Amino acid sequence: MKILVVNAGSSSLKYQLFDMETGEVLAKGNCERIGIDGLITHKCPGKPDYKTQADFPDHRAAIEFVLKLLTDKTLGVIDSVDAIEAVGHRFAHGGEKLRKSSVLGDEEIAYLESIVGLNPLHGPPAISGFKACKEVMPSVNHVGVFDTSYYADIQEHAYIYPIPYELYEKYKIRKYGFHGTSHRYVAGKAAEMLGDPNAKIITCHLGNGSSITATVNGKAVDTSMGFTPQDGVPMGTRSGAIDPTIPTYIMKAENLTADETEKLLNGKSGLYGVSGISSDCRDIRDAAANGKVRAKLAMKILTHNIKKIVGSYVAEMNGVDAVVFTAGIGENDRDLRAEVCKDMSFMGIQIDEEVNATCPRGEIADITAKGAKVKTFVIPTNEEYMIALDTQNLTK
Ligand code: AMP
Repeated sequence: MKILVVNAGSSSLKYQLFDMETGEVLAKGNCERIGIDGLITHKCPGKPDYKTQADFPDHRAAIEFVLKLLTDKTLGVIDSVDAIEAVGHRFAHGGEKLRKSSVLGDEEIAYLESIVGLNPLHGPPAISGFKACKEVMPSVNHVGVFDTSYYADIQEHAYIYPIPYELYEKYKIRKYGFHGTSHRYVAGKAAEMLGDPNAKIITCHLGNGSSITATVNGKAVDTSMGFTPQDGVPMGTRSGAIDPTIPTYIMKAENLTADETEKLLNGKSGLYGVSGISSDCRDIRDAAANGKVRAKLAMKILTHNIKKIVGSYVAEMNGVDAVVFTAGIGENDRDLRAEVCKDMSFMGIQIDEEVNATCPRGEIADITAKGAKVKTFVIPTNEEYMIALDTQNLTK
């Protein structure tokens, strides 16, 4: 079965074509600058990478171009579009109703359209990407996979905020959690490695956006992102959790509007805000190594906050069997892993410094110190494969 996975953003459309018999990625790429001019990067194993400018006035033009490339005699990997048996779409938000991956029909799309207010950045482009794909591939099933659905079973006391309850009823203000597809994938792999589907696992997805999730029995019980992906640990440009009165204080002190304040906390804070240098962890590390004090401070704030959340989830679950690091920073920054896991031996978390420092990039690694009670793993995430798998399970 061949499945196309699509992740549509406001000016981009990423895609991967999977052969589900082998689990192999036959081709993948990214259409960028949709609505501006258009640029596509297309990669197939064993063939030279292809990059060209194209005219992408909208998502439909982009997906049409992708299908042309996938079926092209020299650059392509399938004879005809009919070889694609289903399409999986990534959605950041499934609201309260789309609690699991679903075949997308009129009812589901109407619901997703009704909740774009909860997800104004990602919702509209994801819907328009889906509509474009449905128009050009009308005869196959299209499946929606939602980042929020991994958190569908979180208990009320973990998702209701201690603000007037009517605000939840009126506006659906509650914890939703994000990055769920990534956490589900790496927690599943960790449970497999432990040989225990009921394990207590803390997964740290640390990238440009970062979140930490606690999983028991294959189900998330808590997560650091909340009503929006702004909550939790500090990120590239997002503040993460801060004292809730800070935004209104800044608004008054700096005479900012609500939108300007949101932009400041979303786009100018986090690693970038503290360091004043960059949102990219590699730049911050370089700057810190060159003696830049605020770069060092930014990393310290990040590790401090990760540690606090990991510790709180150990308390919440009454223990932990494995801690997992994933995504750009989690998979690649060995110093960060060492700093987070330092002085956690009282909880049974202890890593082997040498294995941690030398484990190869892009591969699963067990970095647990000999004799440590809790396993620590590095597991490269693969959200696209998870989307393809859900799509296969719902359509085969
Ligand atoms: P992601 O959002 O998962 O693509 O992750 C992006 C983040 O991963 C950026 O902050 C990068 O600086 C960081 N990253 C990627 N490679 C490395 C590396 N080798 N060392 C430290 N951070 C890295």
